[in-house]
This record gives sequence, C-alpha cells and structure tokens, in this order.
Amino acid sequence: MRVRHTLKIFAALLIAIVCAGQAQAGAKHVFLFIGDGMGTAQRNAAEIFLAGKRAADGDFQPRQSQLTMNSLPVTGEIGTGSLSGVTDSAAAGTALATGMKTKNGAVATDGNGAKFRSIASIAHENGYKVGIVTSSFFEDATPAAFYAHSDSRARRYEIGRQLPESGFEYFAGGGFSNPKGKDKKMQSIVDIAASNGYRVASTRAGFESLSPGGRAISTSPGARAGYMPWAIDSAENDISLAEFVKKGIDLLGGGSFFMMAEGGKIDLACHANDAATAIREVIAFDEAVDTALAFLAEHPDDTLIVVTSDHETGGMALSATSDVKDAFYGAMSRQRGSYSRFEGSISKPAAEGFEKYLAKAREFFGDGAARTDGVAKAFAMTAIPQKERPVKSAEYKKLYGPYDPFTMACMREMNARAGVTWSTFYHTGKHVAVSAAGAGAEAFAGEYENSEIFTKLLKAMEIEPVR
Ligand SMILES: [Zn+2]
Repeated sequence: MRVRHTLKIFAALLIAIVCAGQAQAGAKHVFLFIGDGMGTAQRNAAEIFLAGKRAADGDFQPRQSQLTMNSLPVTGEIGTGSLSGVTDSAAAGTALATGMKTKNGAVATDGNGAKFRSIASIAHENGYKVGIVTSSFFEDATPAAFYAHSDSRARRYEIGRQLPESGFEYFAGGGFSNPKGKDKKMQSIVDIAASNGYRVASTRAGFESLSPGGRAISTSPGARAGYMPWAIDSAENDISLAEFVKKGIDLLGGGSFFMMAEGGKIDLACHANDAATAIREVIAFDEAVDTALAFLAEHPDDTLIVVTSDHETGGMALSATSDVKDAFYGAMSRQRGSYSRFEGSISKPAAEGFEKYLAKAREFFGDGAARTDGVAKAFAMTAIPQKERPVKSAEYKKLYGPYDPFTMACMREMNARAGVTWSTFYHTGKHVAVSAAGAGAEAFAGEYENSEIFTKLLKAMEIEPVR
C-alpha cells in the first residue's frame, strides 16, 4: 500500500504545496482525519518505526518524512483542554465538530441539554454528502459528536438511535457496540437504519458491492463489540480503515462531500501503554490519509485535507537508547500482537506457573519481557484471582491500571528497552499537531484552540456560520 502510493503522494504533495499558497473558491471535498489519542510522540514513534523498517529492508536513502500526514505542507498546533480540564474524547470531539468547548462526557451539547450544531450537519444542509468513518464503534464519543447530541457519552443507545436520523450518506468502521441497547431489549438500530433506507453491509462481499447512490452503513466483518480489529492483529479478510475511506470516496465523491475519519484505537492502545500496537494503528490511520491525498491529486482545486487529534493519551515519551542500533524498530517489530491478545491468552497462571508464562511473554513481546523483579512481582499478582487483588490501592492502579499486571509489566520492560516510556494510563493535556493540505489549508497553520478547527473548516467551505 505504502510503496504503491508513494508516487501518487509526491504528485499530490507538489499540487498541495502549490495550492496551499493560493486563495481558493470553497473546498468542496473536505476530509477531517482525527487520530484519537495521537500526540506528536505517537506520530514520531510511527516515523521512527517506518524509518527502521526501511533500513531493515536495506533502503538507507534519506527521506524527510515516512508518514504521509507528517509530509503535508501546512502544520499547526492545537490546545485540547475542555471545560473540565484535561479533555476526554467527548468534549474534544465536540470542540472539533461544533466549535464549542464543553464538559467531559458531553456529546455536542453543553452537558445540560443545549445542543451544538456540528460541521457535518451544517455541511449536509449546504448540499454536502457526509461520511463518518471510525475504527471504533459508531456510538463512541468522537464520531457521535458529528451526528448526535447527548449530555452523556455513556448513553450509547440514545446516541446510536440518532445515526439513521442524521440522514448522512455513509457510516463505516467497527459497527454498533450494542445495537439493541444495554439490556438488548430495544429495537435494533441496524433494523431502524435499514427501514430508513440505509443499505447495511457487514461482510467483505457486501462492502465491495456497495455502489454510489442512497445511504450506506458498512461494518467490519472482524469487529468485536463494535471495534475494528487491531491493525497489528488483523486478518486477511478484514477491511482496513484506508479501504473504508476509499469506499467513502467512491460513494460520495461525485459531488461535494465532508468526510470525518477517525483512527479510534490509537487512544485505546495508548491507554494500555502498548507502543507497538499504537504504532500500527497510527500507520493504518496514515494509510487512510494516503487515500485522501490520492483524491486530492485528482481534484487539486477544491479538496481540503486536515489531519489532527483530539488529545494525547498515555504521556508517551521517546528517548534514545544506547545499546543496539535497531533497538526501537527491532523491539517494536518483534511484538506479535496487541496487549489484549496476550491478556486473552493467559488462562491458568497460578497452575501453570511463572516460567511457562515468561517463555510465552518472550515469544510474544521479544527479549524485552525479561526476568526482572517487576515482571516477577506482576506475575504473582496475575496469579491471584481478580477479586482478591488490591485493585483499589494507589500503587496497584499506578502500576497496572485496569489491565492484566503481568502483561503490563512485560510491555513496560520491552517499551523501556526501546526508549519508550509512559506517564499515565489516561489522557494528558499536551497540545496536538494539525497537518493540512489543499484548498484553504493555509488557515490551519499556527497555534490555536481545538474549537477553531470548526470555524476554519466552515471558512474553507465558504459556509456562513449560523448558530
Ligand atoms: Zn481515551
């Protein structure tokens, strides 16, 4: 994918650089990419990983950037704070989607019932077709801020119920987390959508047969609880985020459109402090940006691409390691799968013992999973039934959060060896980067608040802001 697109990308960049300097007549094709939890360290980690991969493949040619998003001509930086302080994805999604700062947990509302209109709805009213793509589930906070309103992100059924009512033309990604509500007694949102004229595709064949016209929902065949599979764990037949975006272009690309595409699981991997998994999510997200850039190359005058994030997760930091030259790529590429896959493979720790699991961990995480005191102590904790662990103690929470202790300890060792350290299992208040290309991209340079993305998008589309 990456190699195939390289030429296209260079062509698109040349055009983007030329266009960035000119005044444009309204962007008619607008892509807003949101890497959930993706700070600059997450982007840099993916850069270093890809550079390491190229070197491992024998390609030592210097190159400015490995990630497409890092090569876009306009760069900026946004503050992400919400009215509650360090933001969650609901308040940050609301700021990006509606231009309004709100409390954590509120989805396109002030948290007290007052609704904020989203850029997607406004674009829709102005004749743009709308696509919402996410590797997370549709009712999750970030996508929800673009099509729904709720005082609480936890009210997933209430949120999901608004999806078919939006009339937006394309929803794609993981799927619904709980289409029949928490107690599974409500009318299925999938059925409601179908009776509202949505074609619903849940297999690869169904996805491939979707053609322009009407409205469509396409969900990942490998989804679990509405999440797309991890990129690091994905199987042959899974549909990638890039494919979902490409399909969106095929379905909506005939006229004006606004598409929000979220890399929703970067955040999840960073909550778990799993660098190798996060890097693959960033790369999968970047491949989705590639498809937009290929479209920009064909429609240079009226296409705008904006890539940003809602907040940083994990307090990820990268430092140089002195031991081996390929420490970073070597360590990160040796990890066999996501933390959750390893957690899922732990069945009878007490009966099977430390040695067996240490061997398993070394096979899965590489040599970084070492015989240290921290790892041994964590295994002892894993061997205790969940109910009996001191999960409420400050020390336990700081070391393991809500995760399996042994998995966390092995990953922490491996990450540290590769120069990756984390400060929290939660979000941080760091600023995040904005990258842009195409019609009106220059407005996204500089340092400003996340809520201004909304205003700048409206301006680029030449839509008068009406509240
Ligand atoms: Zn998060």
